[in-house]
Amino acid sequence: MKFLKEFNLKKYNAYRVNAVCSKAWFPEKEEDFTFLCSNNTDPKRIILGNGNNIILSKEYYEEEFIILNGCFDKIEIEDTTIIAEAGATLKQLSELAMNCSLTGLEIFYDIPSSVGGAVVMNAGTKEGEIKDILVKVRYLDLSDLQIKEIAKEDIGFEYRNSFFQKHTDKIVLKAWFNLKKGNPEQIKTKMAETKQTRWAKQPREYPNCGSVFKRPPGRYVGPMIDELGLKGFAIGGAKISEKHSGFIINTGNATGQDILAVIAEVEKRVKEKFGIDLEVEQRII
Ligand SMILES: Cc1cc2nc3c(=O)[nH]c(=O)nc-3n(C[C@H](O)[C@H](O)[C@H](O)COP(=O)(O)OP(=O)(O)OC[C@H]3O[C@@H](n4cnc5c(N)ncnc54)[C@H](O)[C@@H]3O)c2cc1C
Repeated sequence: MKFLKEFNLKKYNAYRVNAVCSKAWFPEKEEDFTFLCSNNTDPKRIILGNGNNIILSKEYYEEEFIILNGCFDKIEIEDTTIIAEAGATLKQLSELAMNCSLTGLEIFYDIPSSVGGAVVMNAGTKEGEIKDILVKVRYLDLSDLQIKEIAKEDIGFEYRNSFFQKHTDKIVLKAWFNLKKGNPEQIKTKMAETKQTRWAKQPREYPNCGSVFKRPPGRYVGPMIDELGLKGFAIGGAKISEKHSGFIINTGNATGQDILAVIAEVEKRVKEKFGIDLEVEQRII
């Protein structure tokens, strides 16, 4: 298993914020997780998937990071079921599914995510969520160091939330997805259309971590921010995207604290004008 000291996390968080951690581990097999967690008495361990939904609030972390990016990413197919390790990406999964004429993953093709991150966040779009195709999850329970399996029905999925977000002592290791036989040309077209529509709306030319806030019932966050005149509002290198106000972009040298300061201003102004308490979707680390 690869292990690096004083590791710079800039390429491992989609905001491209500069931050260093004391140690970074890149597991390759299940035993690596058990080894790491049983031989390490420091309880402050941070799990990172592909870093597409996190705000690194500090410039230095004493905590050790376990990073599932470019490792622990084997994928198997059994009939119409895809079984993937937590470090595999949704892009890899959907491309493999397309090549095997399996449908069900097209809408996830363009969501930058590891399998583990997608389960924890219940990633999705208005067309569906990861829970819709999930069968079960294998995880390491740090409370007793046992590897366990949990059925989809017991994961308590909600909008961008799951059992795993509420229990951060569980590490997602593997997930099973149930797909259906489909037409490869139709699957390919759907994937291409999904990507095109999303890129037309999202500020992909700048580092960002997708939608900052969860959608409050009956409202959309972007239009509320527009109404407040906050489009383009910036603190340091963190700026509310002019293309999509629900996104914060890094214009070059943003720190995690710049991003959090923009978020605090939006929360304050939305509360004052609309009486709504916004909930941040991104995980603050
Ligand atoms: C351009 C862009 C567009 C996006 N569009 C969407 C969208 O349409 N829909 C959507 O839902 N999201 C979207 N997102 C957000 C992001 O893609 C998802 O939240 C994604 O599921 C995060 O996966 P990740 O692997 O990057 O997780 P990370 O950001 O690495 O981690 C997210 C959380 O999960 C935890 N975690 C990660 N892996 C594990 C594991 N194996 N075990 C336990 N805990 C773990 C982390 O500790 C952290 O708390 C977008 C992001 C970007 C940058």
